[in-house]
Amino acid sequence: MVSNILLLLIGAVLLFLMMRGGGCCGGHGGHGGHSAGGHDHHRSDGSDEYAVDPVCGMRVSKRNAITKQINGKTYYFCSEECANSFRG
Ligand SMILES: [Zn+2]
Repeated sequence: MVSNILLLLIGAVLLFLMMRGGGCCGGHGGHGGHSAGGHDHHRSDGSDEYAVDPVCGMRVSKRNAITKQINGKTYYFCSEECANSFRG
């Protein structure tokens, strides 16, 4: 009778270990798919076309902005006044 309980216990432990292993593999698969989709969402921000004026903090379109190259970096300004008052 005692050996029956032991067998049950061992069976339960084996089942538990098997379920743990399976759950781990399944989790990894779902994780990879999720992060792949996340990257696409991040790009649809429009931040490629807009820059922030470092003087007044205004968001300016790069096409219409006044640009200045300082130390190899490009800065975008809303107006000549902002561009002139900026000291990089
Ligand atoms: Zn400005």
